This record gives sequence, C-alpha cells and structure tokens, in this order.
Amino acid sequence: MSLSKVIAIDGPSGSGKSTIAKKLAETLGVLYIDTGAMFRSLAYTCDQRNIPMVSGPEIQNFLNSIQLDYGKSSDFLIGIDGVNLTDKIREHSVSKLASIVSQVPEVREYLLHFQRELASRVVCVMEGRDIGTVVFPDAFCKFFVTASVEIRSERRLNQLKEAGTGDMTLEQVMKDVQKRDDSDMNREVAPLKQAEDAALVDTSDMELNEVLKELTGTVQSKAEGNGIHL
Ligand code: C5P
Repeated sequence: MSLSKVIAIDGPSGSGKSTIAKKLAETLGVLYIDTGAMFRSLAYTCDQRNIPMVSGPEIQNFLNSIQLDYGKSSDFLIGIDGVNLTDKIREHSVSKLASIVSQVPEVREYLLHFQRELASRVVCVMEGRDIGTVVFPDAFCKFFVTASVEIRSERRLNQLKEAGTGDMTLEQVMKDVQKRDDSDMNREVAPLKQAEDAALVDTSDMELNEVLKELTGTVQSKAEGNGIHL
C-alpha cells in the first residue's frame, strides 16, 4: 500500500510547530496547510451566528450550509461564505472558542473530510493536533513538536504583544495554555497525542534553523525511501 504524501506535524500550542511547518513547506516548495485555522474559523463564525458549540442538529445544519474556503490567495488563508477571516481568527478569544468547537464530533468529522480532500492530490505539510493519528495515519513522514509549558507560554505572550493584544501577564497566559493542553489531550474524539511512528522534536532549547535542518533531512530521506517526489 502506498503512503499518503503528507508531512504531518502535530503538537501543542506554542510549541513552534506553525513556524516550523511554514518554513519547512517553504524550504521543500510544497503546500502548507494550517488545520488550526479551520477550527478557528468555524468557532468564530458559530460565535457570530449564535450557533451553540455542542453536538446536535443546529451545528450539523450549520456545517451542511456553509462554504469553507482554504488558501484562495496569500491574503485570503481562510474564509466562510465568502468572508475573509484570515485576521479575525488570530484574536486571543478565538483560541478558547476553537478549543471548545474542536470537541464537537460533527465538527471533527466535517474537517476530517475537508482536510483529506485538500491534501489528496499534492505533497503538503499539514499542521494540527491529530494529523498523524487520525487524519493521515498513513502519512509518509510524521513529527510531534513540543516544548516546555514555560517556554510555550513565553512564546505565546510575545506573539500577543506583537499582535498588539499583549495586556496579559505570563501567569495568565500559562494558565490558558495549560487549560487548552488539558482539553486538547483529554477530549473524547481525536485527542492530541504523539503517533507511535512520529519523531519527537523538543524545541525548548533549539534554534529554529537547527530544527529545520534536522526536519528537512528526515523528510528528504523518507521521501526518497518511499519513492515520493518532492
Ligand atoms: O493550532 P491552533 O492553536 O490554531 O488551533 C486552535 C485549536 O484548534 C486548538 O487548541 C485545538 O483545540 C484545535 N485543533 C484541533 N485539531 C487540529 C488543529 C486544531 O483540535 N488538527
């Protein structure tokens, strides 16, 4: 059986996986797919439209009725029903909502199909929480990127400051990060966990360039071994 041409990058928030995934895709010249953005856009829109983020007919009808667009252009990463949500979904409040909506089985099912369809024909780097375990268990290359809670919270705080929404303390951010980890790792459907065949990458004490070099080498040798052309 041939393996999926997907490079799966999973891990908790603030582990550096987004930066790594984007850079890796750029270095390899392949498509980058941010699945967190999909959960965020659904959460944001449910909140706007007062759709309860719990399992049931209301959320199913919502999912059946929307048009989700991914990667239309560089300034339109994600949108629903023609509305560009690329910037909106990065607000801190949306992180919490995304974690809530991601626990709804109908939402996970909907995005599972969406993600499989999106990656069905091309080589890509797909980043998320359950890519190597659930969405593409047959991905030819898998990484689980992590870092200590302290380091991840510091990175998150810096991101918020850069985005101009940094009026939180490190303690508050750490509490949020731990809460999100806890709900991501303990939810019933597709919890965050390392796939058995994923390489563990701890970025706590590593420079981005170091990590990238290591990952690029691993991808290239796995691609070669599996007859995949990058
Ligand atoms: O990666 P990001 O922080 O943007 O993801 C936002 C939230 O979406 C996560 O906290 C997680 O609850 C959810 N998520 C998920 N599965 C994925 C990607 C994101 O449950 N594959």
